[in-house]
Amino acid sequence: MTCRIVNHGGGLVSIVCMRGDQTKPCHYCGRRSEKLCDFPLRGPKAAKTCDIPMCANCATHEPPDKDWCKAHAALVMKGRDEKLPF
Ligand SMILES: [Zn+2]
Ligand SMILES: [Zn+2]
Repeated sequence: MTCRIVNHGGGLVSIVCMRGDQTKPCHYCGRRSEKLCDFPLRGPKAAKTCDIPMCANCATHEPPDKDWCKAHAALVMKGRDEKLPF
């Protein structure tokens, strides 16, 4: 959790807290991230997704609403070739 104090002027001050995962930089280039990898994890982390933060440039978008990190984009494409049910 990251909190900062915002001074609106006129004596009005508020504290704004952001969840850390919303302010993580892109995993690849360090720019502000807009997307998280949607790849479903297996094993002990099953039911979660990879969630690597990425900017729009570094994510591989899959219509209609999936985004993959570079490692998982490669896995997804490979899975397609082998006709695995991704
Ligand atoms: Zn990036
Ligand atoms: Zn991923």
